Amino acid sequence: MAKLTFRGGVHPYDGKDLSKDKPIKTIVPKGEMVYPLSQHIGAPAVPVVKKGDKVLAGQKIAEAGGFVSAPIYATVSGTVKTIEPRRVVTGDMVNSIIIDNDGLFEEVAYTAHNPEKLSKKEILDLIKEAGVVGMGGAGFPTHVKLSPKEPDKITYVIANCAECEPYLTSDYRRMLEEPQKLIDGMKIILRLFDNAQGILAVEDNKPDCVERLTELTQNESRIMVASLKTKYPQGAERQLIYATTGREINSSMLPADAGCVVDNVDTIVAVYHAVAEGKPLMNRIVTVTGDAVNDPRNFYVRIGMNYHDLIEEAGGFKTEPEKVVSGGPMMGFALFDLDVPTTKTASALLCLTKDEVSAMEPSPCINCGRCVDVCPGRVVPRKLAVLAEHGDEEAFVANDGMECCECGCCSFVCPAKRQLTQYIKSMRKTILGKKKKA
Ligand code: SF4
Ligand code: SF4
Repeated sequence: MAKLTFRGGVHPYDGKDLSKDKPIKTIVPKGEMVYPLSQHIGAPAVPVVKKGDKVLAGQKIAEAGGFVSAPIYATVSGTVKTIEPRRVVTGDMVNSIIIDNDGLFEEVAYTAHNPEKLSKKEILDLIKEAGVVGMGGAGFPTHVKLSPKEPDKITYVIANCAECEPYLTSDYRRMLEEPQKLIDGMKIILRLFDNAQGILAVEDNKPDCVERLTELTQNESRIMVASLKTKYPQGAERQLIYATTGREINSSMLPADAGCVVDNVDTIVAVYHAVAEGKPLMNRIVTVTGDAVNDPRNFYVRIGMNYHDLIEEAGGFKTEPEKVVSGGPMMGFALFDLDVPTTKTASALLCLTKDEVSAMEPSPCINCGRCVDVCPGRVVPRKLAVLAEHGDEEAFVANDGMECCECGCCSFVCPAKRQLTQYIKSMRKTILGKKKKA
């Protein structure tokens, strides 16, 4: 039974007015393009080009390095300049293919398909070959997510159209400007799951999207639109599943264990491009926003473009930013260098002013309990943060630290501005890393 909301959560300033009413603008890239070989969860991709090779836009330049991996495609025509480690948004150096863009944008020919005539295997192969990964930030290869052990037990395919993260408006613009691609992408995914119903789950702060999607799906018997209560983190996987189906999962379960598959808007549109148009994943929409930029808006970006070019297209800085965040203010992470490429998972570039950042300086905990009240993971963030700070892994796990979904609600409400999520997130990463190696 749908609940349309969840326990806990917060209502942060959403900052969406800065960019939501401007149409998506396409950026034409200039100069060098950088393609990190790891821009997904799983094995890094393996180059199939070498220095000096001429390439076309849409040509495969790196092959998937395993089943849980994804190939990478050139998004411009030009020449392979080199293959070397380059800095990425996380600050890590990642082996990358560098292409000198010749500015001609010559493209390979694509083969369109009628999805109705394709078998399930053919659909999955096209998604895999196109290099589609979760574009909401996770980067998990989509063909793997769409291949659960028991596909007949999947009863809901949920399109995460909540876009609950403050400041981000790329899904909103996509739903307004290209709603049919989202619906057609959902129809393709539903072909993989005979017993599933499709749900387009939109927060009720986007009534225009709810109305448009409802109108366009009125004759689609397998697709419904759910209008969810606006509350952060409504778009987190566990909260979304609970709000739309009433089913609960924990950190040791996958959505498929509750009969659900969840994909975000851009990923579903990428599935449409891959299957119906035969086009690999080459573009994404990025929100460039915040009070420090002159013209906040959404851009249609070719993967591989430098972040400096995105800022330039947004009219440059109005004032020197104190902090630039990749992603939104709740779940994104601060960048220390803008000289990094746009990848498949880059959703936004948020440029904050000095005033906005100084309001976030931490002080000691006053034991007010607000972090506990808002936590959708039903844990005690204050306690977990202290355990994480002291590196006490055993106690962290015993206190359900792994049930945290890293939503950022606790840090947001903390009157002492404690960096609770940051500590918890880093401890979770350490524990998960050790589990993988074991
Ligand atoms: S502890 Fe985790 S789940 Fe709970 S509010 Fe903080 S970040 Fe969100
Ligand atoms: S919200 Fe902040 S100040 Fe209040 S109990 Fe939690 S950590 Fe302490």
